[in-house]
Amino acid sequence: MLLGAAPVIVGRMVTRLTAFALVTGLALVPTRSQTPAAADAPRLLVVIVLDQFRADYSDLYGNQWTKGLRRLFDRGAVFTETAFPYAATYTCAGHATIGTGAFPAVHGMSGNDFYDRTLRRLVPCAFDPAATSVPFGGARGRERHSGRALLVPTFGEELRRQSETPTRIVAVAQKPRSSITFAGRGSPDTIAVFEEDDGTWATSDAFAATPWPEVDEFVRANPMKAAYGTIWQPFLPPSAYRFADDAAGEGRPAPWTRTFPHPLISSKGVPDNEFVTAWERSPWNDEFLVNLAIHLLRAKRLGAGTGTDVLTVSLPSLDHTGHEFGPRSHEVQDVLARADVHLGRLLDAIDQQTGSRFVVGLTSDHGVATVPEQVVADGGDAGRISTTEIRNAINTAIERVLGTPGPHVASVYDQQVALVPGTADVLRLTTGGITAVKAALAGVRGIAAAHSADEVIAGASSTNPSLRAWRLSYVPGRSGDFMFTPKPNWIVRATSGSTHGTMNSYDQRVPMILYGARVKPGRYDMPASPADLAPTLLHLVGATMPRAQGRPLVEALVR
Ligand SMILES: [Zn+2]
Repeated sequence: MLLGAAPVIVGRMVTRLTAFALVTGLALVPTRSQTPAAADAPRLLVVIVLDQFRADYSDLYGNQWTKGLRRLFDRGAVFTETAFPYAATYTCAGHATIGTGAFPAVHGMSGNDFYDRTLRRLVPCAFDPAATSVPFGGARGRERHSGRALLVPTFGEELRRQSETPTRIVAVAQKPRSSITFAGRGSPDTIAVFEEDDGTWATSDAFAATPWPEVDEFVRANPMKAAYGTIWQPFLPPSAYRFADDAAGEGRPAPWTRTFPHPLISSKGVPDNEFVTAWERSPWNDEFLVNLAIHLLRAKRLGAGTGTDVLTVSLPSLDHTGHEFGPRSHEVQDVLARADVHLGRLLDAIDQQTGSRFVVGLTSDHGVATVPEQVVADGGDAGRISTTEIRNAINTAIERVLGTPGPHVASVYDQQVALVPGTADVLRLTTGGITAVKAALAGVRGIAAAHSADEVIAGASSTNPSLRAWRLSYVPGRSGDFMFTPKPNWIVRATSGSTHGTMNSYDQRVPMILYGARVKPGRYDMPASPADLAPTLLHLVGATMPRAQGRPLVEALVR
């Protein structure tokens, strides 16, 4: 498939949902007697997420990889038709789906943010006002995170509940939502590490009262500030990159231009937040996380104890880079080529630590759209949807129906609209009220369909693919009052760069690979979803995921 082409997969999705419903309906509550792990069962379950890894990257850029990614794609069980079936394809929703085997309507993480009608503002999915930061390296933590919004257990928590031997969970990520969605709600022997916005590495008192010494020593030995003044240069020879380095619609994120080299500096000449943001966008972010994962693997002797342990690593540089420069950029190719090398080191370390008694699942939380200006240059229909246009259209429609002046829109987020609390109730009681808002939303340039929350709630049995996908993303009290579905290649991001979040196939489709003990290598083309990963990993050790909507991918496992 060419980048920019955007077939929307519909028929297959409906079939897959039916299968999921059957699996969910038949799920049995496990008992301990059902869970004897085979003598050769893996001792370490590893999940690697490359944030924003679009499904076609392996075809486009795979010949640039020689190490870890190469090994996984060549020697793993590769599920070529893997896609999220739900509407709002964001980081928190995707990671929680991978972590729990369920979809947002069940696991609760509808998007990166929820509209809190009591606080009357957006709150991040991992926000917890009752939690306190536990920072590493002597820094001062400020942020409040926990897994309290998760409505079902993660596979690590489920494994711990069903195991007679202790399970240790280590979840490292830069984004709090990418660590906590694997660590879960917090229990002993769970290490969850993430970064706060100002560059502080931290955990939450939901997981630990004091900093873990193994993490603390690593953070002290690898200060982010030490990267100040380093330069991100191309890793591959110039001829290895596809497409142009300076293409239409690419971003120019300070302190960088649209082309290499990218210095990790700040306009103020000190390692302030501008530098931290540059560091987060650079491949140094991925490298730090892989090194931390290897450090904890060895320090905690993961996979070498009496039970089965869990290690999850989410690499974010691809997402940060893809947002700024788009999926055709040299920066995205460069981040992938470096991730290939780092993952090779991680796989070697895992192999050595566990004596090959491990299984790895690699996947992603969502894909990404081609930069719209590049689609237009190729003769396609594409563009940028304006949230201001959405606000204005809805405010005008509500003023006309209710006769009261606005603003009536509280928030436009994650392709949803939250009205000022109480407004939706009044509209429901007003003839034509809901219809008028839907019509206004559907009339905005680049929007294909608009739904009310009431329609979405009733949409489970609908034949409308947009309603069905939104039903899987809908969480009462967290989702908006109205939802919209962008046309293919129309994105909700101003000015430059790209984003994800829609039910278009370039956002829903991601790679998924199983690799390691008891995995049958090969290519598998049956429909699959990242929700299948957690049930598959637990199946390998004789445990189950009662709340999962995915299924164990038994066709790829040695019996
Ligand atoms: Zn993103």
